[in-house]
Amino acid sequence: MSRIEPRISPAALAELVAQAASDLGFDLVGVTPVGPSPDFARFQQWLAAGYDGEMAYLARRMAERADLRMLLPEARSAIVLGASYHTHELPATLRNDPSRGLIAAYAWGDDYHEVIKPLLFQLDAIIRAASGRTSLGRAFVDAGPVLERSWAQEAGLGFIGKNTCLIAPRLGSWTFLAVLLTPEEIAPFSLLASAGRQEVSAATQTCGACVRCLDVCPTNAFVAPQVLDGRRCISYLTIELRGPIPHELRPQMGNWIFGCDLCQQVCPYNRRFARSARLAALQARPEMVAPRLLDLLALDEAGFRQRFRRSPVLRTKRRGLLRNVCVALGNWGDPAAAPALVEALHDDEALVRGHAAWALGRMAAPAARQALLTAAQSEPDSTVRNEINVALTARET
Ligand code: SF4
Repeated sequence: MSRIEPRISPAALAELVAQAASDLGFDLVGVTPVGPSPDFARFQQWLAAGYDGEMAYLARRMAERADLRMLLPEARSAIVLGASYHTHELPATLRNDPSRGLIAAYAWGDDYHEVIKPLLFQLDAIIRAASGRTSLGRAFVDAGPVLERSWAQEAGLGFIGKNTCLIAPRLGSWTFLAVLLTPEEIAPFSLLASAGRQEVSAATQTCGACVRCLDVCPTNAFVAPQVLDGRRCISYLTIELRGPIPHELRPQMGNWIFGCDLCQQVCPYNRRFARSARLAALQARPEMVAPRLLDLLALDEAGFRQRFRRSPVLRTKRRGLLRNVCVALGNWGDPAAAPALVEALHDDEALVRGHAAWALGRMAAPAARQALLTAAQSEPDSTVRNEINVALTARET
């Protein structure tokens, strides 16, 4: 394939991209030449260890993951972008209220895929207008076979912390990453676009002796620094896992119902440098911040779709979210939740019925035992019957 010789120099393109990314609302922007993916061997080792759990999609399209040129043969530059989604710290009164569910901060606003991808297309259009290119670049926002964090590190935007997040100096890790592949040669650079376009100097930055994120993880999901056993991660358990949550991990999940932020909350880089989201669509919707668990358990399908319209939470579907809500209610353990959980024992979804039974097994409410015994008589699903038996046994011990 013949190369495009743009009518604008690599240095001028770099200036154009830096300005456009900043104007579009990104916080980070960097460019690096495309080629074999950094960290690919490490990614393969991670898969071989089985840490991906049921995320089978991660092991697909390996040739493309290994080399970005498999995604766009004529690609010469990878533009890596970051957009902060930080809005505010959760007040302690909400964070420590077990009757409320915690949602990871990245999901407080609109679905980032839908917010960021159009911006990548706009950036590509700006580059095309300058270079004379007629074909399209390729844009990826956490949904393609691209090792975004590794490419962000390669582009000089930060380093991968012990919590496996990309940590940008003077910004932290509350950041969505995206990649745009283009055929133009663009001079490499790395900028903190939202801070007067300061150059990022990540090369000397590290976690040092800090291990706060490793220590705070309630499910002990970190096997080693930078090595996460996804199967134990609360984000995986509440979002990616489609079936029942392993019994032994449920008590450690607290009231997280969609994702988990603990390993980012404790990070000193975030505590010191977090910057507020610039993109309006990533601002927190009030109803997404620590909602009441019992309000969520009452949602029917239409109510779920309405409440989480254009939200990343839709990914779990109603049954996945209510499964997580039941676990959080079981961890709360307050008898006030028993009536709603008894009703959930008769939900249309077996996944919800089973986790409601588990939650009732952790409650001292006298009605809970009778409700479990009654449900056991008519429950058609063997998995749920097993959950009920486990719950009844738990109440007797
Ligand atoms: Fe690194 Fe400490 Fe942040 Fe973990 S909490 S990513 S160890 S700086």
